[in-house]
Amino acid sequence: MNDPIQALRDAGYHVVTDRPVSKRLNAFVKLTMMQQEYYRDPLIVRLLSNAQLRKGNALTADQLIRAVKPGENSERFIKAATAISKAIFQRGYSLECPDCGMVDWYPLYDMIINSSGAPLYHFVCRGFTHPFPLPINAQIEYKLNPLVSEAVKDGGLTLLNALVYLNQEVHPSERFQDKFIAVEVKNRHLHTDIDLIRFHKNGGYYVECKDNFNTTDEAIAELQRTIETGLMLANTLGYQYVFATLQEEVPPTIQQQLDAANARLLTAHDLLKPYDEQ
Ligand SMILES: [Zn+2]
Repeated sequence: MNDPIQALRDAGYHVVTDRPVSKRLNAFVKLTMMQQEYYRDPLIVRLLSNAQLRKGNALTADQLIRAVKPGENSERFIKAATAISKAIFQRGYSLECPDCGMVDWYPLYDMIINSSGAPLYHFVCRGFTHPFPLPINAQIEYKLNPLVSEAVKDGGLTLLNALVYLNQEVHPSERFQDKFIAVEVKNRHLHTDIDLIRFHKNGGYYVECKDNFNTTDEAIAELQRTIETGLMLANTLGYQYVFATLQEEVPPTIQQQLDAANARLLTAHDLLKPYDEQ
């Protein structure tokens, strides 16, 4: 079976592959894939899971380090964060305009040289529309690139790491072949999302991704229904069902359900690894 989307359609499902969430996650995977080893690092996962950053707030380097608490691994953390900083961060300053006193976020632009040969930074107050110089005590701050912050909320870190892990099991010549991300599947009786379909010559993986768990009875029951539907669709495709999470374990009822169905479980033990041990 070569095209899983066509196979689902042939089985009577309505399948949507190009929703905004799918585009975001595809772009996120492309952005991060070339530096995938850094995103497996638990300290980088902690950085990208930071609530302040996810909210779009700007933090100084000291604040970032304090939030991640790398302890004795701070050298490793700084190395890894520096390596991916161009992809994940926007740099800038929170500055108070000397004319009108308003504080605003100013992205870091390249320094420009004006016509008389003087170097200038291009900070123009949005209230007063007047340029002003960079104060000598200004501290550079980092904000998550909006694509990264949205994709992380969509579960992008688990998705990326599950994909990287499963790619190791696929023949190298097939590693850059098609995959489908955040596919919506429905018919009159069923409506579900498939986080990742990764297919290869001899079959494929149907992957459900969960960053973490809400353990209320209601949430667990809903997750069980999602898994039940997923197992059925994976069976329709003839693919292996994989449940991936960045947690160290899954709730016992979920574990039992996966075991009973002979499904595969990938946890933080499989997916995460400090990058200096890779
Ligand atoms: Zn101003």
